[in-house]
Amino acid sequence: MINSFDFYNFDIIENKELYLRSTSTTGQYIITNSKYIPQKLYFLFVGSGCSSVCSYCAGNAYYFSSVGIRKPIFRDTKVIVKDILRLQSMGVDILYVEFDPKPFSEKFYNELFNELKSVRRKLELGLHFGVWAGRLPSEKMIESISNIFPREMA
Ligand code: SF4
Repeated sequence: MINSFDFYNFDIIENKELYLRSTSTTGQYIITNSKYIPQKLYFLFVGSGCSSVCSYCAGNAYYFSSVGIRKPIFRDTKVIVKDILRLQSMGVDILYVEFDPKPFSEKFYNELFNELKSVRRKLELGLHFGVWAGRLPSEKMIESISNIFPREMA
């Protein structure tokens, strides 16, 4: 079901330009030890739901259970890869992923990174990966991120 949703059909949004201007701004934030200053950010939706109830999180189990989602569900990795290329073609130069549900699935992210290897040479964007409630990603996962999203870091 989640794979049938189109998360990036901005044409159906009234005041699309205003919406995109206000949601994709980076504020030109600085990345430590990098010359790369991202200009346009957008959210990469990789899944929904969680079994925890962190009070500061709008994606917690309390809210999602009201729409029948009681544990994390992940989107198809092939669909996500298409969305990444779509966002890049819209001028996005940094993706924001914030999905560290409990239970966390490093297996899912490894599958996504494997899928991304086939388009690795086409990718010219960075990735901001937010981790709020769980443990830090493994060294292997951090390495995969830096190999696949290689914005200049020096
Ligand atoms: S574990 Fe992550 S996704 Fe789940 S409620 Fe807490 S912050 Fe939200």
